[in-house]
Amino acid sequence: MALLAQSVHSSQQSLLIKLDNINHSEWLDYAALHLGSEYQGYIKRLMQLEAAISQHEIGLYGVCADCEQPIEQSRLNIDLACQRCIKCEEKYAQ
Ligand SMILES: [Zn+2]
Repeated sequence: MALLAQSVHSSQQSLLIKLDNINHSEWLDYAALHLGSEYQGYIKRLMQLEAAISQHEIGLYGVCADCEQPIEQSRLNIDLACQRCIKCEEKYAQ
């Protein structure tokens, strides 16, 4: 939000006003559709963190999205929002 507030682009200023008026749960989807490519990295990271929080809420945090085995703690220490164990990440990245 601070980055948006500093923007000199009128379209981003109007987005800031719009975000103030919609439900927080819709922010990411709205921002992904309406922000420029310079924000896509932030949006992707926020989506990853949101997914990790959702998994925590349903008791599936730290479980691999592909093989459903526990993700190695060493991986979670590096990225608390990682979605796959080492084996599945290697397959996914190919
Ligand atoms: Zn796995």
